[in-house]
Amino acid sequence: MNDIEARIVQLNQRLKEYGHAYYVLDQPLVADGVYDQLMQELIALETANPSLIFPDSPTQRVGGQVLPGFTKVTHDTRMLSLGNAFNEQDLREFDRKIREQLGTVNYVCELKIDGLAISLKYVDGLLVQGATRGDGTTGELITENLKTIYAIPLRLKEPITIEVRGEAYMPKSSFLRLNEQRLANEEEPFANPRNAAAGSLRQLDPKVAAKRHLSTFIYGVGGDTESYGIASHSEMLAYLAEQGLPINDTSRRCAHIEDVLAFITEWTEKRDDLAYEIDGIVIKVDRYDQQEELGYTAKSPRFAIAYKFPAQEVATTLLAIDLTVGRTGVVTPTAILAPVQVAGTTVQRASLHNEDLIKEKDIRIGDRVIIRKAGDIIPQVVDVILAERPADSVPYEMPACCPVCASELVRIEGEVALRCVNPKCFAQIAESIKHYVSRNAMNIDGCATRSCVSK
Ligand code: NAD
Repeated sequence: MNDIEARIVQLNQRLKEYGHAYYVLDQPLVADGVYDQLMQELIALETANPSLIFPDSPTQRVGGQVLPGFTKVTHDTRMLSLGNAFNEQDLREFDRKIREQLGTVNYVCELKIDGLAISLKYVDGLLVQGATRGDGTTGELITENLKTIYAIPLRLKEPITIEVRGEAYMPKSSFLRLNEQRLANEEEPFANPRNAAAGSLRQLDPKVAAKRHLSTFIYGVGGDTESYGIASHSEMLAYLAEQGLPINDTSRRCAHIEDVLAFITEWTEKRDDLAYEIDGIVIKVDRYDQQEELGYTAKSPRFAIAYKFPAQEVATTLLAIDLTVGRTGVVTPTAILAPVQVAGTTVQRASLHNEDLIKEKDIRIGDRVIIRKAGDIIPQVVDVILAERPADSVPYEMPACCPVCASELVRIEGEVALRCVNPKCFAQIAESIKHYVSRNAMNIDGCATRSCVSK
């Protein structure tokens, strides 16, 4: 087995393991950004080596598998996933290909609700069946659980027969309340609202789902759209709203990719104000005949794409540990990383806090580590991917001596930090001077430079 084949096998295993934890157990082992990064690596390797695409590769499958204990439902038409875009370039490429084939198009931009996909069947206006997406072909029958969601009408305005699809989600407020209760009951809190929603709907007892205060947005119909006599997705959304179904009212029809990009910028800024979590923006070709012309891949439609917000957690390699000595002699370890994009910026250094964190997580040079950058906070190393640890790695030892003045480092009782206690240490003197002239102290402008020049 050559290196590429070995990496493909490893990525297959890793993604299956992470997928099982996320889709089946509702307990993710890693952040979505880390999963997406590995998935992109596998897609790139498979594209370059098509003979190494295994039939059960995670790139070829939708979602997870059906939980035992639930009745299985075969979907009339498959419930697919969506292709992903991670930046402006991916979106422009999506637009370019579509225009090349179709000429003029209109898009509909929608919020990508971070919940789980559901299918609802109405016969003569009455809700008769509710199911999860499952593996796309077969889902779990969860009608009674879905009936506990107030946003889902049990009867439509008109006695129509229709299958609608949407996202069931847990509002942020319900999520916070639920985790508070779980902690008070000494139960494991849910990792995020998406997993909490999935865990709540896949309960055998509908009373549990009822207590979790979930909600839903419907974003489309299942099956052949021609039979409804409606020509476009935007008109369909309006029709579904007239039927009393919960439609998200932020969707926008866009004639140009520039308008799509503006919608993304707007919601990237406003997403925290929403009462529910979104993990991106979905862009769909509006006209149904144009959708049909573009068709589908094995896993997703070609007429739609999901733009994912920049990941706040990704994996990279720890190349070295840099030690800096501060004004008070505290020695701070900093991770030197293989450059990686986190939350929209390239990160090459991240905080390791102190020796205790390095020991506790057993962080070693050469490890694949997980970096988090949330908001404006300095990037942090939060974990190690032990399964990817090189065989020859050795535990990291903090040096016994100051990296600048070579005097012995001490750990003062009750403190986690290691300190250089030599008052003549050059690093401490330099940092003290920097502090003295800084805006927060004497606010001296250019002292060091002028005194050097004048002498
Ligand atoms: P996806 O999340 O990339 O996109 C498809 C889904 O988006 C649809 O099935 C639908 O449920 C949802 N959606 C929300 N709003 C929508 C709208 N307005 N219109 C259409 N669809 C909308 O694909 P997926 O297959 O559901 O999940 C894959 C993603 O799940 C990965 O990219 C990753 O982020 C996450 N994941 C994470 C882990 C982990 O370990 N953290 C493991 C597996 C998957």
